[in-house]
Amino acid sequence: MQNKRRPLVAGNWKMNGSVELAKQMIDTLDSSNIQNVDVLVCPPFPFLSEFNGFSGSVGAQNLSEFNAGAHTGEVSATMLKSLKCDFVLVGHSERRTDNGESDALVAKKVSVALEQGLTPILCVGEPEAVRESGEFFNHIQAQIDAVVDQIGIAKFDNIVVAYEPVWAIGTGKTASPLQAQQVHEFIRQYLAELDAEVAQGLRILYGGSVKAANANELFSQPDVDGGLIGGASLEPQEFLNICLAAK
Ligand code: PGA
Repeated sequence: MQNKRRPLVAGNWKMNGSVELAKQMIDTLDSSNIQNVDVLVCPPFPFLSEFNGFSGSVGAQNLSEFNAGAHTGEVSATMLKSLKCDFVLVGHSERRTDNGESDALVAKKVSVALEQGLTPILCVGEPEAVRESGEFFNHIQAQIDAVVDQIGIAKFDNIVVAYEPVWAIGTGKTASPLQAQQVHEFIRQYLAELDAEVAQGLRILYGGSVKAANANELFSQPDVDGGLIGGASLEPQEFLNICLAAK
C-alpha cells in the first residue's frame, strides 16, 4: 500500500494569460530546481502548444464529452492528447455554475478523459450556503458518487480530486488548514470504504485562495497532497514559491 503520495501543484489560469506569460512561466519554472513535486500548468486552449518542451506537465481546463464530429466550439480529449496534455480539469465550480455542468455530465467527462489517457482532476466543493447549512459532506459525497457510479472505484487510481470550497475561490477567503484537512480526510475515508488501497494512493488537492504565504500550512496537512491554484498561478515567481512549498 502506498503511503507517501507525491505532491502535485496545478495552476489554473482560467480565462487569463498570454503567449508572453506562457514564456515567462516556462522560463521561471524550468530554471528552478523543483524536486519531489509534480508541477502542472493549465492555460486556456490557445496557449497549450506554447508548453511544448516544458519540464513540467500541461493540462486543459475542460474537455468535450463527445469524441469528434459536429459539436461547434468543443475540444476533444484526443485533441488535448495531441497537444501533449497529460491532465484535464473536470467539473470546476465555475463550469458547474456558469455552464450548467451537472454531476452526471462531469462524470461523463471524467470517463471520456480516462478513455483517452488523460488524467482528470475532478473538482468538488460546496457553495457558501451549503457550508453554512452544515450539509457540505453530503454535497461533496453526491459529487463523488456520480463519478464512482460512472467509472467505478478502481479507476480512481488514475484520477486526482481537487477540493475547492466555492466560497474560497477567488475571494481571498481560504479554508483554514483544519477545515481543508477535515474534508480531505472525509473524501479519503469515504472512498476507502470502497477500496482502501485506491483511497490511500489518491492525490487530493486543495484549491481556494492559495498563495505562497499560506501554502505551506495547507500542504502540511496529512491528507492535502498539493494545490489547485487560480489567481496566484498567474505570477511566475509566486507560483514557483507555491510549488516549492509542496515538497
Ligand atoms: P483561486 O482559484 O486560487 O483564485 O481562489 C482556485 C481555482 O478556482 O482553481
